[in-house]
Amino acid sequence: MSTDGPIFTRRRENFTCLRCATPVRGTGYTNHCPQCLWSRHVDVDPGDRAAECGGAMEPIGALSEGDGIVLVHRCVVCGHLRRNRGADDDDRDAGLALFGRPVPNPPPAR
Ligand SMILES: [Zn+2]
Ligand SMILES: [Zn+2]
Repeated sequence: MSTDGPIFTRRRENFTCLRCATPVRGTGYTNHCPQCLWSRHVDVDPGDRAAECGGAMEPIGALSEGDGIVLVHRCVVCGHLRRNRGADDDDRDAGLALFGRPVPNPPPAR
């Protein structure tokens, strides 16, 4: 047996995109729409689904980090800022379009 290494809590939750109505299949890590990159304000800490807000989160910017993309989302209801790691199936053009945008008060990485 070799079960060392971090244990992730994976929650596979499907939801319908609040922005473009794309049915999003949850992977346990990704909680944003692969088409328009909008998300939902459902987490306090990533993956915990503890936020009661439930507002739509607009992708307002993107950063290059490590070998991937980090999307910055802002909740349109409460203004909460959050970073989300981009997913492999995200729309590439939508992600690239976010680069170069000014990101107000970038939230710290978790
Ligand atoms: Zn969408
Ligand atoms: Zn919110």
